[in-house]
Amino acid sequence: MSSPRKVSDSTVRRLSSYLRILRDIQSDGTHTVSSERLAELGGLTSAQVRKDLSFFGNFGVRGRGYDVGDLRTALTGILGLDRTWKTVVVGAGRLGSALISYPEFPNQGFAIVGVFDVDPSKLGRRIGDCEIRPVQELRDYAERESISVGIIATPRVAAQEAADHLVAGGIRAILNFAPMALDVPPGVTVRHVNLAIELEGLSFAITESSNVPTTIETGDAD
Ligand code: NAD
Repeated sequence: MSSPRKVSDSTVRRLSSYLRILRDIQSDGTHTVSSERLAELGGLTSAQVRKDLSFFGNFGVRGRGYDVGDLRTALTGILGLDRTWKTVVVGAGRLGSALISYPEFPNQGFAIVGVFDVDPSKLGRRIGDCEIRPVQELRDYAERESISVGIIATPRVAAQEAADHLVAGGIRAILNFAPMALDVPPGVTVRHVNLAIELEGLSFAITESSNVPTTIETGDAD
């Protein structure tokens, strides 16, 4: 049996970025797009675009570029977004509530179906369609409902416990907003989100060049 190909995080991020661009230009009525145009819109080089896409298949038509609809369908499948991933949020505070209330996640393949907290004053209240449930029920709920993704929006000190509940409930993908590393078993993927790092990138840009606008590309150049 052949071993799975290793695709870097930065490649996956660029695929997400291409998909967003394709959605936008398709809604503007564009049917074909060149690697040069995709590169321009994504702030990359056309060689990078061609390299990324050729890794997954032969999508382009020589001299014509890519069919926007076909490439969008292909990238949607490659990213696993041709289905809806059931998602739960742990921590119904400011951030958790904002995430649950964001209406676009279901359109992007993520349905937030459950929210869990420890604060007795919040339990039983609703955010959108979700009733806030006690975190002690998280493991059973995740197992019963076949939840795929867990979002941690608890204070730092509670994040590992939240991750443990998610893992025990069979969840293999965690988006962690709490500012700490999580200890999870092999086979569980954790993505950390830290807006401060993004802001520091902006701070760097305006410090480096106070007069000339600077564009910083996200992701490395592999
Ligand atoms: P908050 O205090 O408003 O909300 C935290 C919620 O978690 C509360 O409802 C609390 O009752 C609940 N909670 C506490 N212990 C819990 C446990 N053991 N199990 C389940 N729920 C529990 O905090 P916030 O402002 O929403 O921030 C949430 C987290 O996100 C913090 O860790 C914060 O540092 C982080 N944060 C990260 C970013 C980022 O860019 N990554 C940005 C903002 C906030």
